[in-house]
Amino acid sequence: ATFGTLSDRLVETFKNLRTKGRLSASDVDGTVREIRRALLEADVALEVVKKFTADVRERALSDEVNKALNPAQQVVQIVNEELVAILGGEQRKLQFAKTPPSVIMLAGLQGSGKTTFAGKLAKKLKDDGHTPLLIAADLQRPNAVNQLQVVGEQAGATVYAPEPGNGVGDPVKVARSGVEFARQKQHDIVIIDTAGRLGVDEELMKQASKIRRATDPDEVLFVIDSLTGQDAVNTARAFQEGVDFTGVVLSKLDGDSKGGAALSVASVTGRPIIFASNGETLDALEEFHPDRMASRILDLGDVLTLIEQAQRTFDQEEAQKVAEKLAKEAFTLDDFLEQMQQVKKMGSMKKMLGMLPGMGSQMKQQLEGFDDSEIDRTEAIIRGMTPAERHNTRILNGSRRARIARGSGVTVTEVNQLVNRFEQAAKMMKKVARGESTGIPGMGTI
Ligand code: GDP
Repeated sequence: ATFGTLSDRLVETFKNLRTKGRLSASDVDGTVREIRRALLEADVALEVVKKFTADVRERALSDEVNKALNPAQQVVQIVNEELVAILGGEQRKLQFAKTPPSVIMLAGLQGSGKTTFAGKLAKKLKDDGHTPLLIAADLQRPNAVNQLQVVGEQAGATVYAPEPGNGVGDPVKVARSGVEFARQKQHDIVIIDTAGRLGVDEELMKQASKIRRATDPDEVLFVIDSLTGQDAVNTARAFQEGVDFTGVVLSKLDGDSKGGAALSVASVTGRPIIFASNGETLDALEEFHPDRMASRILDLGDVLTLIEQAQRTFDQEEAQKVAEKLAKEAFTLDDFLEQMQQVKKMGSMKKMLGMLPGMGSQMKQQLEGFDDSEIDRTEAIIRGMTPAERHNTRILNGSRRARIARGSGVTVTEVNQLVNRFEQAAKMMKKVARGESTGIPGMGTI
């Protein structure tokens, strides 16, 4: 699949990173070298690779260390953020005109997947409640109009085409009268399919540029076949100079592309990728999310989200505060409750088992036996206690425990269990306060 090898290479690189201590300059250099090699093998443009690796290196060596993460996690996070950046940063949605019809013009080489994409987009827009009109302004290829009619029919969208038998026709005129037709017939969006050539040529650019001027599109989408290797960057540049475009569509992302084109085009042209087309059926279209694509490339799935959550939850300063309290022996059930709630914020704990690099087995065991309803019960019990009881569990005699159990709808045994667990946790916290490790690198105090 696309990015398969790249993913494997990057993941392999991360595996070799240490999870303890600090990253040395030579660790970072070694990693960056591996990343550089992996990107070049995936046909990412050299200029993009250079910038990418320089940025990753600088950040990995900087003081911007994230104390909630171990070194390996930090590098993954930096690489991820930089990947998101070269893929365009924030997601960019399709832009529409203030007064309909919105005009979307497609440009790209022949065979790039323009006509197929036109059908997919028409279908998507129809599903979203629009009334798209497809305009066949590709009069170069004998079969192009016919092909657009086929996908239009599949999408359930009207196709505006020159009368058959009308010979070659003038694509600029067709485009202009198509937009006029849409205005009259109340189509709120038009999609103009234009001609492509097998290679970039001047005639093609001139024609596309004329169509652009004649129809004043809200979006000009450059469709690029993901299977295009290093050439993708040159083609994209040629189209940017010749017609200019407002956004990019990556087609055939389902194929066996190495992903280089995808990773280069947005960065080199400064234009966002708006859609990814990934199959021959009309449903195979996705809005492009740079962040999701980056995690797909890093093959990390939910791990990155979990890293972010972990970082928010196990905030170093929080841990410090707790440690200070412990030093003064002031760790109470209220603090305990707060900690459990932080853990709960991390969502489904079991999901992340074994996913974070460097997770200790002791931690895994603790999480294994953990469920959210238990936190709720714990909360009920603690809320059933008086402030004095929360502050000092030693005063919890039998009758107090019975009262708390009744008040929070649990058994006395459950109250006892909670108190025992709290006392154990307090002991563990003390260890942490004395600087002994819990065996969980970067995870603060759990
Ligand atoms: P155009 O010349 O730019 O209009 O390109 P077409 O839309 O005719 O597509 C060229 C070929 O690529 C056709 O055989 C399509 O079926 C195929 N194609 C287009 N988009 C995709 C895609 O996302 N995935 C796959 N696998 N094939 C595609």
